Amino acid sequence: IGQDNADYLISRIRSVQGFPKEGINFRDFMPVLADPKALGLMLDALEAALPVPADSFDAIAGLEARGFLFGPALAARLGKGFIAVRKAGKLPPETIGESYDLEYGTASIEIEANMVGAGERVLIVDDLIATGGTAKAAADLIRRAGGVVAGFSFVMELIGLDGLAELGDVPSSTLVTMP
Ligand code: AMP
Repeated sequence: IGQDNADYLISRIRSVQGFPKEGINFRDFMPVLADPKALGLMLDALEAALPVPADSFDAIAGLEARGFLFGPALAARLGKGFIAVRKAGKLPPETIGESYDLEYGTASIEIEANMVGAGERVLIVDDLIATGGTAKAAADLIRRAGGVVAGFSFVMELIGLDGLAELGDVPSSTLVTMP
């Protein structure tokens, strides 16, 4: 998308110190979505940076909640379907769930059991990778449902946490790296 466009996109990411709790520098990409130029650029950049060719996967899985905000738009551009990976308790039965550790406590995510076809190749998307725990849990879920994780696309990566190392040797892409 070029340096000027990349700078413009990055300028629309807002940083909020101390949210949702002390010590966290929250990276807010809602201003990207609210800005027509930045929204288009983000989708262009995600498409240009796909970690694997678009014809090598069948569907996009997005993580609740912010993976829902651009995953379907990217999927529609690429002619793919979208699979919602939700927080536990939101989807009707039958579901498959996966629990994973957070800094404090655990979290659980779910998909509908019949959403992933046997051997279906899935690209997992989310706004941000920090420790990688969420993305890894989503990958484990897709695999348990019978799918193959083709790659991961993130808008942002927090440096110093080595989150991508959690993802094994599946290809991944990140648009912006931030402290
Ligand atoms: P993790 O499982 O540690 O990789 O955390 C990734 C998930 O938490 C993603 O769904 C992010 O949206 C959210 N997240 C973690 N850290 C931040 C942050 N500093 N700013 C915004 N979102 C974050």
